[in-house]
Amino acid sequence: MSTLDSLQYAQSVWNDILVYLQQMHSPLVRQWFHELVPQDMTGGLLTVRCATAIQQQYVAVKCRDMFTEAVQSVTGKLVSVNFTCGTTAAAAGNRLADIYSNEVILSPDYSFDNFVTGPTNRMAHAACQAVAERPGKTYNPLFIHGAPGLGKTHLLQATCQEILRRQDDTRIIYLSCDSFINHFMECVQSGDMHQFRNIYRNRVDVLVIDDIHFLAGHDRTQEEFFHTFNTLYQQSRQIILSSDSPPNEIPELEDRLISRFNSGLVTRVERPCFETRCAIVTKKARLRGINLPENVVRHIASRVESNIRELEGAITKIQGYAMLNGGRYDLDTARQALEDMVPPSERMVSIQQIIDQVTAFYNVRLSDLQSKKRHKSITLPRQVCMYLARQRTRYSLEEVGGYFGGRDHTTVMHAVEKIEEARRIDSTFADMLNRIEMSLLAAAAKSA
Ligand code: ADP
Ligand code: MG
Repeated sequence: MSTLDSLQYAQSVWNDILVYLQQMHSPLVRQWFHELVPQDMTGGLLTVRCATAIQQQYVAVKCRDMFTEAVQSVTGKLVSVNFTCGTTAAAAGNRLADIYSNEVILSPDYSFDNFVTGPTNRMAHAACQAVAERPGKTYNPLFIHGAPGLGKTHLLQATCQEILRRQDDTRIIYLSCDSFINHFMECVQSGDMHQFRNIYRNRVDVLVIDDIHFLAGHDRTQEEFFHTFNTLYQQSRQIILSSDSPPNEIPELEDRLISRFNSGLVTRVERPCFETRCAIVTKKARLRGINLPENVVRHIASRVESNIRELEGAITKIQGYAMLNGGRYDLDTARQALEDMVPPSERMVSIQQIIDQVTAFYNVRLSDLQSKKRHKSITLPRQVCMYLARQRTRYSLEEVGGYFGGRDHTTVMHAVEKIEEARRIDSTFADMLNRIEMSLLAAAAKSA
């Protein structure tokens, strides 16, 4: 086949491939797939050019199987798919691949453009943008914390992408805390510490570690990270960290690390309000090429309050139902799809699940909670249990009081008021309570 023929052949099957993906794998299809350009189809290989290195890496790792399946189904031949990208960005692509190896891949979805700002994340978003504009020169380190599913990883990745967009030879290492720990331990075992230090101290302009709270209890990794941190910091290399809690609440974290983390900008993301959730749903749907009507958007946003990841799950569900309903994205479809998604405020859990979560969180025993002990380390978890029991179960004040050590209903009322008050005025406490609730709902969902 001549070059021209192979180009034409590639182009002729491309549209069918996109249609196939839309039908078979719609939750994974993104609007930017339309920016992919088929280039050539020869010798059992379809070559597709991507607009950026990040897109290339993403499709090559996350979507190769489904593209292969699609091209084979469309052509009826054994064909595989190869993804390339434009020349200038290719260097960045190789370098990223080199650094990540089996590490996290940056997702083209996680860009600043695709991040919706509202009152609860504006500050974190602005800080990330400032850092992306002038890495190492504004806030260093930048520390973002907040409950799961509120966009920390998204912001970190958007920052990396923006840094690369501005200067594509920046040496970024972006990895999860787990990978950092594993890499460290492997190097300790194989005696490659020299190489480890060389990578993290000398060969990086921007070090980004996601979920740094996993350093908890890893003493030797903490020690190593402390020196990594200092070396980078002294050379004005940018450090960006995320965590599910503020530095001083990460358990078993060395004081000197806490003070290092606090020395730059510490900013928090919180649960988005209803309007922001609506904007996020709209944006996420558009990314998948769907235009949702306003009433459907509002329906989804009202079903999910605390975790944006669940909003996406809801959209996926609706996509599935819409396929069955002839592609209609109306309120009926949304209602059907989300029927079993009770709004979080109405979700019920068992008293045992509450006890499991609270005792694990505060490291106390049920027998303590049921005892007469009045030490603060016991009364607080006891009051949290009572509060959650009243919020999330149907037990009466008397029943709850009786269960927690034969206390009367006024004690329970007092506990509920106290926790409500603390939740309102003490953001640190509110954060903790959110985390307990989140794991409680997760446990309840698992056992349901
Ligand atoms: P975290 O790292 O805080 O647990 P993620 O960054 O993984 O949360 O976010 C979970 C999902 O929610 C991701 O798909 C992310 O794109 C989305 N998300 C979170 N916040 C926003 C936002 N403000 N705008 C758009 N998408 C968001
Ligand atoms: Mg994350």
